[in-house]
Formats: sequence, C-alpha cells, structure tokens
Amino acid sequence: MMEPVRKCRKCLLAELDNEKLLADVRQAVDRLGEELKVSDEVYRLRLEVCKECDYLNEGTCNACGCYVELRAATKAGSCPYSKWKGIKLDVHKQA
Ligand code: SF4
Repeated sequence: MMEPVRKCRKCLLAELDNEKLLADVRQAVDRLGEELKVSDEVYRLRLEVCKECDYLNEGTCNACGCYVELRAATKAGSCPYSKWKGIKLDVHKQA
C-alpha cells in the first residue's frame, strides 16, 4: 500500500522536499538585479507574514498564485491582501 502524500499547507518551498523547484525559484531570485530586490531583512519579514497566512499553500500564495519566496524578493512585489504593508522597504535590520 502506498504511503499517503503528506502536504504542508503552511510551508515555504525552503521547507518542502522539492529541491528542483526550490533551486529554480532561488535561481530566479538570484537573477533579479540588485536594484529590484528588497533587503534580506525585508525578505525575511515578508516571509514571516506569509508563514502565518492562511493563503500559503506549499510555497504558493493561493490568493495570487505566486511562489511567495519569489514575490517577496522584489521591491515591486506586493501582497494581494496588503499584509506586508507595515514592512518598509528601507528596513535593513529588525530593531
Ligand atoms: S502574499 Fe499575502 S496573501 Fe499571499 S501568502 Fe503571503 S501574506 Fe498571504
């Protein structure tokens, strides 16, 4: 009998066992020009919000269909429900 496939709705790609997809998303982030990317701290804070969000489903935002680890990396990226609005783009370190 086959083991049931376990899904983690509240996981980022970095926490799932899908190395190829994670590598592809990380490569896409790496290819972004530095001028287009948010700071590491903004990225981390955005993903913390996604981790607590009911729309996160296996690394994908069910509200917009994006991989959150890619969307969160760009200055132009936004949360469709404005859940990142309290995170200023000039945040470099959390106080
Ligand atoms: S982008 Fe917004 S709606 Fe989508 S998972 Fe993240 S916090 Fe939730």
